[in-house]
Amino acid sequence: MNSVCVFTGSSNGSKVIYREAAQSLGREAAQRNMTLVYGGATVGLMGAVADAALDAGGSVIGILPEALAELEIAHTRLSELRIVDSMHTRKMAMAEASDAFIALPGGLGTLEEIFEVWTWTQLGVHAKPLGFLNVGGYYDSLFTFLDQAVQSGFIRPAHRELAQSHTDPSALLDLLKAADVSYKPKLAVSPGY
Ligand code: AMP
Repeated sequence: MNSVCVFTGSSNGSKVIYREAAQSLGREAAQRNMTLVYGGATVGLMGAVADAALDAGGSVIGILPEALAELEIAHTRLSELRIVDSMHTRKMAMAEASDAFIALPGGLGTLEEIFEVWTWTQLGVHAKPLGFLNVGGYYDSLFTFLDQAVQSGFIRPAHRELAQSHTDPSALLDLLKAADVSYKPKLAVSPGY
């Protein structure tokens, strides 16, 4: 596992623990010599995770769509900044550059991004581990809902189990490293489906 993609809020959230967790994950990735891949912005927790990784001597690749480059303010200190033409290109490029995915606390963008890479594993577009950094129980009610969706017959247990979760960045990276990604979907779809 040489690179990890982090999806997280363009806001800071209401508690300081969210920012601290983002910084801790950035430092941990750098200490493990893992390249951090993220959305390329300075704002919110996105900026916090990138700054912490860079300050710890890590390599950080930011991928930002041109339409957002002003709104989210492109980070100027990155090892590499890629400006792409659209949100869809951004997500594809982030997925291709990464060996694993982590969602920190975030909003609709974060949820959409982690669910997309999760469904790509479900569909066989890629076979890469993913997990949630569940800081302060931020994702507890989402997990309750997902378990209820399994009970209701809309999510297969094997698909639900593809996502790891932990409150500690180092422990979560260990879980991703050890995750069984040999899952074979019934229906395998090519990238760009
Ligand atoms: P948020 O979690 O809503 O603060 O957003 C986190 C990141 O997701 C930001 O870089 C947003 O620009 C991005 N984002 C928001 N909506 C989408 C979307 N529909 N597709 C891809 N990225 C998005």
